[in-house]
Amino acid sequence: MWATEWANPSLSAIYMTKNSAGSAKKALTKKLKSAISTPRKHAPLAQLDRASDYGSEGREFESSAARHFTNIDPVDLDRKQDRGFMQEALVEASAAARLGEVPVGAVVVKDGEIIGRGHNLRETSNDPTTHAEMIAIRQAAETLGSWRLIGCTLYVTLEPCVMCMGAIILARIPRLVFGCRDPRVGAVGSVFDFSRDERFNHRVAVTEGVLDQECSDLLSGFFRRLRAAKKQRRQQAVEDPADDSSE
Ligand SMILES: [Zn+2]
Repeated sequence: MWATEWANPSLSAIYMTKNSAGSAKKALTKKLKSAISTPRKHAPLAQLDRASDYGSEGREFESSAARHFTNIDPVDLDRKQDRGFMQEALVEASAAARLGEVPVGAVVVKDGEIIGRGHNLRETSNDPTTHAEMIAIRQAAETLGSWRLIGCTLYVTLEPCVMCMGAIILARIPRLVFGCRDPRVGAVGSVFDFSRDERFNHRVAVTEGVLDQECSDLLSGFFRRLRAAKKQRRQQAVEDPADDSSE
């Protein structure tokens, strides 16, 4: 009866095989084979993959499943930590806004420390490649003394564009966390999805929506002020056509 307490029929079979004798053992060996050939409908993939090399103890099975899971997603999924680093990316985004730049900020984190940070500087530098992510990635590579940003997580307030996703893939960054989506040119699902394209030799684990409202508010506030300023300039030009030297 106790066997029914096990969620997994394979596990119960393994346990009983190890702890029973005689005919009961034979019957349970049969049950083990049956369990392997007909896995639970919702069994995790790790379990199916490992079916042919089960250890003789439940503990071994559990550890192999855990290892398999770790291989799929080696990243730290601590939401609180993600919000903390996204807050740092927002600090960078605000710095861009103060310069009159589209407010996007990014930080690169390794082992819980920020090793690169940047904000959009396209207007200031007259360089189309100076997106927040590119600057943060360059700084992180310099800090590590390597172009391979292994074990790093990139936090950025806005869904990356194709250029930045290209850089993320080339830098072998295993994890990306972004705030709000960019429905116009986003390359992580909105328009393109470079994070899961099998033609690349690198996959990026993605977490999205971290402080998305704050990230989005910063951008929409910036564009609202930009539109208001443009409208004011147009009105002034109509009221005083002679004073159009600023255009
Ligand atoms: Zn970009």
